[in-house]
Amino acid sequence: MDALLLILILAVIGWALLLRRRLVFAEAELQRCCAEQGEQSERQLIQQHALLDSMVEGVLVLDVENRIELSNASLRQLLGLGEDINGQSLEEAVPVAVRAELKKLVKAVREAGELREGELQLNGGDPKLVHINAHCLQRAVGGHTLLVFHNVTRLKELENTRRDFVANVSHELRTPLSLIKGFTETLMDGAVDDPKKNREFLQTIDKHADRLGYLIDDLLTLAQLDSDKLAMNRQPTSLHAVAERVENDLQAKADKRSIDLKTDIPVDLYLDADGDRLQQAVFNLVDNAIKYGRTGGTVTIEGRLSTKGMAEVAVEDDGEGIPPESVEKVFERFFRVDKARSRETGGTGLGLAIVKHIVHSHGGKVRLESRIGQGARFILSLPLAGESGEAA
Ligand code: ADP
Repeated sequence: MDALLLILILAVIGWALLLRRRLVFAEAELQRCCAEQGEQSERQLIQQHALLDSMVEGVLVLDVENRIELSNASLRQLLGLGEDINGQSLEEAVPVAVRAELKKLVKAVREAGELREGELQLNGGDPKLVHINAHCLQRAVGGHTLLVFHNVTRLKELENTRRDFVANVSHELRTPLSLIKGFTETLMDGAVDDPKKNREFLQTIDKHADRLGYLIDDLLTLAQLDSDKLAMNRQPTSLHAVAERVENDLQAKADKRSIDLKTDIPVDLYLDADGDRLQQAVFNLVDNAIKYGRTGGTVTIEGRLSTKGMAEVAVEDDGEGIPPESVEKVFERFFRVDKARSRETGGTGLGLAIVKHIVHSHGGKVRLESRIGQGARFILSLPLAGESGEAA
């Protein structure tokens, strides 16, 4: 009997031990699973945040009480919000300048359930135009409002620039065209038989036809520069040789105004440049210096090493100069200080815009120093070719 009881007790103890071992094993397994799931959801959360923060669009999620549930980096930057705004109300998180507009917008989304093309004008700091798409979830699934902000300021600017450009081009083309048409009609109406007038009229027609030609050339150059940004044929280019070619091309024009054309460039100064483009930039500057310089004056092309790896190319004249309020504007397309003088000399208003474009395509900079009555000095800062760079 005792033996039987002992066996029974031993069997129960054995079974209990087995059960305990199984329980311990199951607990360990459960813990491992939970840890794995925890790690996985933490990883997913980090990935989701990284994804949100890498978006160009701003994302904002509000709960039913207009508290911020989620926001991404683009949104915070766009609206000028702080880093830790989760849980804050719009009053607490959003600057006054934007708050009223934003609240109006959220109210509209809540009423309509969604917003396809909302617009928000942000005027604090640099004015920005933002397009907004928004969606409001049913209350049953949380009642959150999701807003996506697209900053379209740059797009709008480009659209305006394109519209202005087309308007300017049409105007610039129409002016010489209507003059050509007018003089042709006058000739056909009888002036062709007037020996005093016919030659003068034909010369005027020829001048305006040239103007149209220059304008089309410059427009094509700008279009090419816009599309060929990456196709620059850059190689070590002698600035001395480039200046010499420009001098040869423009000597006759300089002689007509008795202008002394000088160069001061070390023969071993080589730039890392597209030779044709560099020549075009220097040509445009020297051409302007001759056009707007003093009759009987001097135009100088200089070249020298500047900061490490860079050279400066300067074109200077001793003409009327450029008033301070126009110094930045002269590089804009179609801007002229003196419209009549520019047209009289066959100017297109695009020469300096082309110079700036070429210099920027080389990773360089252009600046202008000028004082009224004392001439203008245009300075291009351009990268040196390898060997000259070492010499610097
Ligand atoms: P344009 O074909 O009219 O010369 P640019 O773009 O080359 O066009 O120059 C823009 C304007 O800048 C010119 O119309 C002129 O008013 C002014 N400008 C350019 N270079 C000089 C200069 N060397 N001296 C005085 N004014 C200049």
